[in-house]
Amino acid sequence: MTAEPTGHRWDTTEAVIDGARALLVLPVIRESDPVEVREGIARRRLAAVTGTCPCGAVRRMPNRAQRRADRQAGRVSRAVVEHADQCPAADDTLRRLLSEVDR
Ligand SMILES: [Zn+2]
Repeated sequence: MTAEPTGHRWDTTEAVIDGARALLVLPVIRESDPVEVREGIARRRLAAVTGTCPCGAVRRMPNRAQRRADRQAGRVSRAVVEHADQCPAADDTLRRLLSEVDR
């Protein structure tokens, strides 16, 4: 999921991923959100920082050639985490939950 105008705030966290320093831009957990939204965001933060989600999803980083192509094109390399369909952090689930909250 990309940073979309959901009304949510984002913060940054530094981490070391595959031996390289990384700056992670992550959604902030709002105490006012329903528990399902908080769980989905918490799982996204967890997967981004640790590389795994309780649903079994694993963070995949772009390979060296992809990172080089991103760098040459002036793009930021992005990790991918494909959450299980039933995981509250899955793109479609969290997007739907956020759209209901941010109305
Ligand atoms: Zn998950």
